Amino acid sequence: MVKHIFVTGGVVSSLGKGLTSAAIGLILEQRGLTVSLQKLDPYINVDPGTMSPYQHGEVYVTDDGAETDLDLGHYERYTHAVLTKSSNFTTGKIYSSVIAKERRGDYLGRTVQVIPHITDAIKEAIHEGANSGVDVAITEIGGTVGDIESLPFLEAVRQFALERPKDDVLFLHVTLLPYLRASGEMKTKPTQQSVGKLREIGIQPDVLVCRTEKPMTREMAQKISLFCNVRPEAVIEERDVEYSIYEVPVDLCRLGLDELICKHLGLQTNMETDLAAWKQMLSTLKDLEQTCEIAVVGKYIQLHDAYKSIYESLAHAGFSNLCKVKIRKVSAEDVLVKGTEILNGVDGILVPGGFGERGIEGKIQAIRFARENNIPFFGICLGMQCAVIEFARNVLELEGAHTLEHSPHTTHPVISLMADQREIDQKGGTMRLGAYDCQLVAGTRSHELYATEQISERHRHRFEFNNEYREQFEKSAMGLAGINPQRDLVEIVELPEHTFYIGVQFHPEFKSRPLQPHPIFRGFVEAALAHTKENNHGPKEVETLA
Ligand code: GLN
Repeated sequence: MVKHIFVTGGVVSSLGKGLTSAAIGLILEQRGLTVSLQKLDPYINVDPGTMSPYQHGEVYVTDDGAETDLDLGHYERYTHAVLTKSSNFTTGKIYSSVIAKERRGDYLGRTVQVIPHITDAIKEAIHEGANSGVDVAITEIGGTVGDIESLPFLEAVRQFALERPKDDVLFLHVTLLPYLRASGEMKTKPTQQSVGKLREIGIQPDVLVCRTEKPMTREMAQKISLFCNVRPEAVIEERDVEYSIYEVPVDLCRLGLDELICKHLGLQTNMETDLAAWKQMLSTLKDLEQTCEIAVVGKYIQLHDAYKSIYESLAHAGFSNLCKVKIRKVSAEDVLVKGTEILNGVDGILVPGGFGERGIEGKIQAIRFARENNIPFFGICLGMQCAVIEFARNVLELEGAHTLEHSPHTTHPVISLMADQREIDQKGGTMRLGAYDCQLVAGTRSHELYATEQISERHRHRFEFNNEYREQFEKSAMGLAGINPQRDLVEIVELPEHTFYIGVQFHPEFKSRPLQPHPIFRGFVEAALAHTKENNHGPKEVETLA
């Protein structure tokens, strides 16, 4: 029987429920158990694929091509859980399936209602998300307890628990202990009220994880215990981390969350939680002295979450190169307005993926700057497409070269719409999504970094290198280093003469892990570090990434 942990959140959003869920997954895996992770999001969009980064942050893509919430990125970075289309459900996705059933006549003329039809569909989704054979299925419920839209989800998990023996389900509520600077006090009232709301719905939390800025005293834990009807040892502090989000599992474990969960769910393993490798990584990280500085030139650099997986991947690559990666967030539009001087002194330039025309010319300028000044360059998706455009315009002298995405009448569409995208007029879930094979060309930088010829990487795009220009590129200094064998699509471009210059059509940032950094990120940061040393920059101010 699969055991279930439901993670809810109270008081405010952005408490780090996703990180807490991922950390619990890691802790249980390191105790010899297998886990699955799933997120239920109460908003009405069918998936976050159509949402703006301003609304939602990064869209994370799974191997099977689901466009999902960025918390799934944390799940994959912390655990070995296999995430699929069943790992993220929204209100929109649940309702769409219920309405489709109603249209097919599956409800045999009955009135279709939130209870039981929507709640039943949510319970089915939870079953689907719990990969068969795992010991523990962790389900995070997005939003904040008390929101109208999360009610059906909470009702469904209440019923779900009622249908099982008591020790098969654990409810963990993440809440906030705000610190009031004026009175110098931490307050438990918001937590009491949030747990009160949860109990009104019929859910009694078994564990409370209290997010705090300052230490939670024993008296506070006792008070929370009394008012919230949770045992004092199950009131756990989760203090803001000092230098890395990867401290969270270690902190939670130190406070006994692993024992607590295993005891409650009757999970017996013959091993203690083994976080040795993880702790080793953290201690190395703490003492890092070398630094390199990478410019991320994008459209959404002011947003914390828009390039989440890229920032994490750079941090991972830093761990393996024994250096801290400082990020200079550069607005692509600023490159045009203020000039490439704003890139002076960086050791690497990364242009991430994106949509829409804003900032394109700034990205192209930044890439030219990297190419002409032999600064390590890494282009991802739109970043790779911009690299192809820049090279076409300035080296191959194809005047006005552009992508059809932004210039439908360009004389040189070096980036064009993929054939199977031409007839598509629906937005959600219709891009080239998920994992595709890529054959690396022997002797290229990519081949050397991956140390294998056949790779699989995740995609999310509609436009692609135009094969009509392939010959011209093949004869030039730009090498085509990776090809999708099934459809003969160019997936990687390189400049072999350059210190480090790789553009990839896929999103390698979705596959980097703290202890297994992605090979291209690793190579890129290595090249950036070499660039720092070469340029003999003085020590830089260190900024923690993770
Ligand atoms: N907008 C480009 C395309 O659809 C790039 C997408 C991306 O960077 N994810 O092909």
